[in-house]
Amino acid sequence: MASLAKGLIQVYTGNGKGKTTAALGQGLRAAGHGLRVTMIQFMKGKINYGELEALRAVDGFTLEQFGLPTFVKKGAPSPEDLRLAAEGFARAEQLLREGSVDVLILDEINVAVDYGLLTLEQVLGLIEAKPPQVELILTGRYAPPEILERADLVSEVREVKHPYAAGVQAREGIEY
Ligand code: ATP
Ligand code: MG
Repeated sequence: MASLAKGLIQVYTGNGKGKTTAALGQGLRAAGHGLRVTMIQFMKGKINYGELEALRAVDGFTLEQFGLPTFVKKGAPSPEDLRLAAEGFARAEQLLREGSVDVLILDEINVAVDYGLLTLEQVLGLIEAKPPQVELILTGRYAPPEILERADLVSEVREVKHPYAAGVQAREGIEY
């Protein structure tokens, strides 16, 4: 398959586990059909996420991280947090403008808006600028209604149970 006839907007949100991994699965499926996939990860960087290593072996699926390994302070992001988020956003705009992707995944972009690293207007502008044949996938908790409204597909992952509540810390290979 050379390209999609019509690209849609997908949102994976909610407080349960499975949003980023769903986006990775969707990207993998697309790459298997020869579509060019890029995932841009906001607010993530330098931690040894398994997907970073695994995707080196997958043709046509690129992962780029724009974040610090540390947590962003809600409402008080550091200048470096802001700089990296702006860089990631500019990269997304560039990929759409150049027409160099068929599927663009913006991982944790909803959280980046919620934490004040990006504005809602910026994201709505990007959605507006989406070329018709590009599939755009936005992930992260707290997707605002304005984004949900513009999406063609919205999946909400709801926490029913998570081992974190029982004291199980993030596990390598499962959570990262
Ligand atoms: P995953 O990356 O495993 O698909 P996610 O993208 O749905 O999870 P995020 O909301 O991005 O999850 O959360 C970031 C981290 O917190 C991930 O390591 C994720 O596994 C973990 N996590 C997700 N949901 C919960 C939860 N309800 N309680 C505690 N930790 C969670
Ligand atoms: Mg996630």
